[in-house]
Formats: sequence, C-alpha cells, structure tokens
Amino acid sequence: MTEKQLQKKYADLIKGAASANGRKETVSYLHKAEKVRTKIYKNLKKQCPNCNGHGYRRISIDGAKTCLVCFGKGFVLNDKKIV
Ligand SMILES: [Zn+2]
Repeated sequence: MTEKQLQKKYADLIKGAASANGRKETVSYLHKAEKVRTKIYKNLKKQCPNCNGHGYRRISIDGAKTCLVCFGKGFVLNDKKIV
C-alpha cells in the first residue's frame, strides 16, 4: 500500500469510529486506525545517512561516538509532510 492509500484508510477508519454505534465498535475502529497510523509513521523513518542506521560512529578501533544526526536512533524523520 502506498502512503496515500494508508492515509485514506486511516481517515476512513477515524470516520467510522465517529459514526460507530457503541463503545465496543468505536474502540475496534480506533485499534484498526492505530495500526495504520504506525505503518504511516514507519514510512516516515529514513535510515540515518551519517551512521547508516547504526546510531553511532566508530572513531577508533575500540571507541564509538553516538551519532548526533539521529541521536543514536539510527533513523531520521523523512522531510515529507503528511496530514
Ligand atoms: Zn545517525
């Protein structure tokens, strides 16, 4: 699924939750929406170009420094905006 499709699905699920009857149905919609949202979020992550996704940079044979581009996470947020 592309990012656009995911966003559409997410919007649909949120709409479904708003129009659902009863608490159980609403919660089930929200859970589905949450799953889609994590997928969108994962697409936003991009491997850090500075440390190649390791989160640190080797400075000598037995020394490494935390990468300051991604702060040790190994990925950076994609610049593409979603809403
Ligand atoms: Zn990094």
